Amino acid sequence: MDSRRNFLQKLGLSALAINLAPVTGWAKNKPVISDKPYDGPVLRVAMVGIGTYGNIVARALQASTKAKLVGVVSGTPSKVKDWQTKYGIPDKNVYNYDNFEDIKNNPDIDAIYFTVPNFLHQPYVLRGAKTGKFIISEKPLGRNAKEAQEIVDGCKKAGVKLLVGYRMHFEPKNLEIIAMRNAGDFGKIKYFTGNGGFRIGDPTQWRLDREKAGGGSMMDIGIYAVNGARYMVGEDPIWVTAQEPPKSDPVKFKEGVDETIMFQMGFPSGAVASCLSTYAMNNVDRFLLIGERGYAELNPANGYGPLKGRTNKGDLKAVSPPMQQTIQMDEMAGIFLEGKSPIVPVDGEEAVKDAKIIDAVYEAVKTGKKIPLKLS
Ligand code: NDP
Repeated sequence: MDSRRNFLQKLGLSALAINLAPVTGWAKNKPVISDKPYDGPVLRVAMVGIGTYGNIVARALQASTKAKLVGVVSGTPSKVKDWQTKYGIPDKNVYNYDNFEDIKNNPDIDAIYFTVPNFLHQPYVLRGAKTGKFIISEKPLGRNAKEAQEIVDGCKKAGVKLLVGYRMHFEPKNLEIIAMRNAGDFGKIKYFTGNGGFRIGDPTQWRLDREKAGGGSMMDIGIYAVNGARYMVGEDPIWVTAQEPPKSDPVKFKEGVDETIMFQMGFPSGAVASCLSTYAMNNVDRFLLIGERGYAELNPANGYGPLKGRTNKGDLKAVSPPMQQTIQMDEMAGIFLEGKSPIVPVDGEEAVKDAKIIDAVYEAVKTGKKIPLKLS
C-alpha cells in the first residue's frame, strides 16, 4: 500500500483529498477510503507492447487496488529490462511475440492486455484467446467491423471473456452525467456534440498508415465521440451522415487516412449528435449533452484526467481520478473476477457497434449519402 500512497502523492492528489488513507475502490462516483487494506481477489495482468499507452497503463496499475502488473510481452528486450526493474516483473513472466501463447501454462497471470497498434489487435488477441486467460484489447477493437466481429467470435469460441480499453466508460464525471440524465435532470435529450482532436506529428508513424491504423483520426479520436454519443444520449444511432473537408497535407494524410471528419448521428428518440474528429487542431476535447431542461458539459472530456465539467445546475461533483486507467483496471478486475456489470458496457459487442458506426461514417464521406444503421 505504501508504493500506492507514494504514487498517489506524486500525482499531487492532495487536492482530491484521497492521499492520506488508502482508496479501496470507487462507489457512487467517489473514492471509497478505508483504513482496512483490500483483501479481495486481485487481477494479475500481463501487458503486451511497451509503447506510449502501455507505459501509461503500467503506471496507472501501480495505483490500482484490484489489479496489478505481473508480466510483459514485448519485442524490445531493452524496454523489458527497464520494466522488470521498475515493476519487479520476474523472468518467468516475460514473453515475446513468438512465444506469448505459453502464458497458457503460467498460473501467475490471469489477464493479457494488448496495447499494440490497431492492425495487430485481431491477430494477437486471437492468439491470446488460446491461452484461456481474460483478454483486454485496446480500442479500436478492429480496423473495421468485420475484424472487430472476428475478434469477438474468436474469444467466444475460445471461451474467454473479452473487454475493450474504454477508460471513459468508468470515469466518474461521465457516470455522474449519465446518472443525472437517468434521473431526468436534463429532460428529454435532444442533442449531443463530441469534438476531439490534436495536431498529429511524425508522418511515418503507424497512426498515419492506413494498413496499420485502419483509417485516420476517426479510428483514434473520433471513436470517443462515437461511443460517447451512445452512452451520453443513452441510445444507439439509426443513421449517420459525414463530411470530410479538403486535407491540409496530402502527403501526411494519404488516401484512406482521414485528417478531419465532421459526422452526425440520429437516434430513435429523435435526438441528434454532431461531432468533430481531427488530427489538424490542438486542444479539441469537449462533450456537450443538451436536453429540453438543461445541459451537461465536459471540457476536457477525454483527456487522461482529471476532467472538468458542469451542468446548468453547477459544477459536476464526482471526483475525477488522476489517471482514469486506475479505475478502469479496478473495475475490469471486478468484471472478470467478481462478475460485476459495468454501468456502460465495455465488452467486445459494444466495440463492434462502434466499429459499425465508423465504417458507416467512412461510407457516408465517400458516397455523400445518409447511411442507415442497424447495430443490434
Ligand atoms: P505505440 O506505437 O506508442 O506503441 C505500440 C507498441 O506496440 C510498440 O512500442 C511495441 O512495443 C509494440 N509493437 C509490436 N509490434 C509492433 C509493430 N509492428 N509496430 C509498432 N509497434 C509494435 O502505440 P500506442 O501505445 O500509442 O497505441 C497502442 C494502442 O493503444 C493503439 O491501439 C491505440 O489506439 C491504443 N491507445 C488507447 C488509448 C486510450 O486512451 N484508450 C490512448 C492511446 C493509445 P514493444 O517494443 O514492447 O514490442
